[in-house]
Amino acid sequence: MSEKPEKLIDKKGIRLDGRKADELRPVKLEVGVIPNADGSAYIEHGKNKILVGVFGPREMHPKHLSQTDRMVLRCRYHMAPFSVQERKSPAPSRREVELSKVIREALEPSVFTDLYPRSGIDVFIEVLQADGGTRCASITAASLAIADAGIPLRDLVVACAAGKIEDTVVLDLYDAEDKLGAADVPVAIMPNLNAVTLLQMDGILTPDEFETAVSMAMEGCKKIYAMQKEALRTKYMTVKEEAEE
Ligand code: ADP
Repeated sequence: MSEKPEKLIDKKGIRLDGRKADELRPVKLEVGVIPNADGSAYIEHGKNKILVGVFGPREMHPKHLSQTDRMVLRCRYHMAPFSVQERKSPAPSRREVELSKVIREALEPSVFTDLYPRSGIDVFIEVLQADGGTRCASITAASLAIADAGIPLRDLVVACAAGKIEDTVVLDLYDAEDKLGAADVPVAIMPNLNAVTLLQMDGILTPDEFETAVSMAMEGCKKIYAMQKEALRTKYMTVKEEAEE
């Protein structure tokens, strides 16, 4: 967006992209999209387009990084040079290194790492198009890809952000709202265990606004969680039907 719009949300509570304050962007999820990977998933979350490939559990390389009592989870978040309007350098930026760590920490509690000692899994996240909230969309897709690789999980991890634009707390900010708004609160949860695995805040909120944002984000997460389960069912029910034929 080249010029700052006068208002990000109008008097009726409608945002620039036509959504209500508590409305998610459209989400599309697909599992098993990369046959060469052990597990994979693709997410379209609004204009975000993200592909995730998972390899493992397999022997760790380099070997000295392996742990005798558990599996090591490695994550790489990468934005393609064409994923944003100005070409992004393909070299890993400070932001990508940080997001890789944050995403790994959000996913790790869901994985039974002690079942595969001395081994590792690699999660490769490729952001093909970015429009705000890519860390959340990446977590949602990465968790599905790990499940698709057949790795036992305590629960799927699902993520969604809420934030503040002008004086209103809203769900699922897109790029312009993220940049021009007042705050952004990404949240990741394991809904069945009622556990939070990521909680960040960029900007300033009052304690009340923070609470509203977190509960709004959690509601958003629960809606996406239903879509995650549906995406797994879609792939594996089709496989089952094919096997029965
Ligand atoms: P998130 O994608 O999780 O919201 P940030 O808040 O760091 O993470 O980034 C917000 C948005 O800024 C991204 O989704 C993307 O649309 C945009 N962005 C990030 N890095 C760049 C970049 N190098 N050039 C242009 N836009 C970028």
